[in-house]
Amino acid sequence: MTLDWDTLLEDCIDFTQRLIQTPSMPFEEAQLAELVAAELQKLNFDQVWIDEIGNVNGRIRGTDPSLGALVLNTHLDHVDPGEPSLWSVPPYSGTVVGDRIVGRGACDIKGPLAVQVYSMAALLRAGVRPRRDIVFSGVVQEEIGGAGAKHWVENLDYPVDLVVLGEPSDNKIALGHRGIAQMWVQFNGRSAHASVPEKAVNPNYALARFIQALSTAKERLSAHELLGPTTVSPTIIEVDTTSTNVTPAWARVCLDFRTASESLNSLRDFVQQIAADLPILLEDAMCTPPKLFPDSDELIYGYYTPPTEPKLQRSKALIGQGMGREAELSRYQFATDGRHFVPYNLTIIGYGPSEESQAHVVDEYISITKMTESLRGHVVLISEY
Ligand SMILES: [Zn+2]
Repeated sequence: MTLDWDTLLEDCIDFTQRLIQTPSMPFEEAQLAELVAAELQKLNFDQVWIDEIGNVNGRIRGTDPSLGALVLNTHLDHVDPGEPSLWSVPPYSGTVVGDRIVGRGACDIKGPLAVQVYSMAALLRAGVRPRRDIVFSGVVQEEIGGAGAKHWVENLDYPVDLVVLGEPSDNKIALGHRGIAQMWVQFNGRSAHASVPEKAVNPNYALARFIQALSTAKERLSAHELLGPTTVSPTIIEVDTTSTNVTPAWARVCLDFRTASESLNSLRDFVQQIAADLPILLEDAMCTPPKLFPDSDELIYGYYTPPTEPKLQRSKALIGQGMGREAELSRYQFATDGRHFVPYNLTIIGYGPSEESQAHVVDEYISITKMTESLRGHVVLISEY
């Protein structure tokens, strides 16, 4: 393939900077979607469209219409940059510092988005037609539950052979990640005036004993051989009252579990064992809004593509060929939109140039060297898969 790689990289960096300079918090992605759509048009994609929920899509047609599409998926939104003065450069600047592009979204997910788009542009510039359709899918609201990805998959009207998530994987191939289960554990007491605590049953004491016990018992949770150990974090603590001089009637804590080897029932048993003789009420529904904890023995996981899956082996070989070194296998620590595609039996892999440690942090960056390598990996993958 004859291609001016230097120009491709320069254009990709410039696009990343423009993406970072266009803030796109959840529900505020419209301007960014327009920017991406205009770029895809300019790059001569065969088809560009924005759907009802605000996802932006672009297609390059392949030579064999009987083959399912290869979809490159990233999201459009990002998390809040927080206090701007903590950043060494303005968070929406996309400043290049040495080998890094710095700014909110550089790593998660605008740098990887630019690599996906420009690897597709590379094919068009080189006059190479892929075998199958390559579709870019930039979805909204990933950071707040994935309504964009759900909308995309629910309304899919073309066959998909493989989805490549651009979430930060450090140019490794991510086989999957654990799933999320959240649970309110509530302790009921009896409320009284705070001046007469002997008339109350204060639930804060039970809650405190529970959290203390959890801090050691969590070691007993099981592990998945490739997706890693189950973890639990107590996050929000709430009581029923906002008055400082009333003992609460109840106190509750939200537990955030990440697992690929436990079920809702096994997690409930685990919590009940720790609570032992403390009477508790279990509620779930991702902690907001509460509903009764469902009964299920099904293992909870995000997505998982085993190393033996032929599509994974083929992508791994092509990506390795493009990068000029073997592509390592890996997993994500965090959750991704991939979990929404599992019920639809889509095959999913993760492959993105940025590092997971850079997601959601101050001075978030992406390495230009890694973007370069990733462009090469993507170009071989999408032209030959
Ligand atoms: Zn992300």
